[in-house]
Amino acid sequence: MLEWGVMDPVAREGTRMARGLGLLRPQLWVGSVSEIEIEPLAARGIRGLILDLDETLVAAVEHTPSPEVRAWIDRVKGHFKVFILSNNFNPARVQRVADALGVPCSCRAAKPRRRGFRLALAQMELAAHEVAIVGDQLFTDVLVGNRMGALTILATPIQPERKPWRKLMRLAEGMVIRDVDTLRQLVPHAKENP
Ligand SMILES: [Mg+2]
Repeated sequence: MLEWGVMDPVAREGTRMARGLGLLRPQLWVGSVSEIEIEPLAARGIRGLILDLDETLVAAVEHTPSPEVRAWIDRVKGHFKVFILSNNFNPARVQRVADALGVPCSCRAAKPRRRGFRLALAQMELAAHEVAIVGDQLFTDVLVGNRMGALTILATPIQPERKPWRKLMRLAEGMVIRDVDTLRQLVPHAKENP
C-alpha cells in the first residue's frame, strides 16, 4: 500500500515563495508509472489519470512504450479514464505512442499552463479533484496539477537528461527537492511499494 504526502498548508497560507515551493510538491513520488497501484487512487476518489508522455511513459529517444508500461496502462484503463497530455510539439510522435497504448491524447499542452489540462478534463468529463496527474517534471506536470487541485504524482524520468538545458532544469528541480522535506519523506514510501 502506498502512503501519501499531503499538500503543506504553507502552500496555501505562507509567503509567496513558500506557496510557490508548495505548488511544486507532488503528493507521491514513484520510480516508474508501473509502481502506481489502482486501489489507493480509487480509495481517494480518483476516477481519471492524466499522463505525461516523454520520460514518463516512454524515453524521449524511444517511440514505443515498454511491456511494463503497456501492461500497467491496460490495468489502469479498466478502472480509470486515461488521457495523455504532452508538451511535445510533435503530434505524430504523441499520437503514435497514444495509439500504441489505446489512450486519447493531446500535445502542445504548454504545462504548467492550465488550458490544456482543462481541455483534458472536459474530454474526460471529470473534475480536477477526481484526477491524478503523473509526470516526470516538477515545473510542468506537478505544478499544473497542484494549480488545478488534482492529485500529483512525480515519476522518476526513464532516462538521464542529455541536452544541456534539460540538465540545468533537473539541477533546478534537485534544488527544489532538497528544499522540500516532504519529498525526502515520500521516497521510502514509494520504494516500499511491492
Ligand atoms: Mg515529461
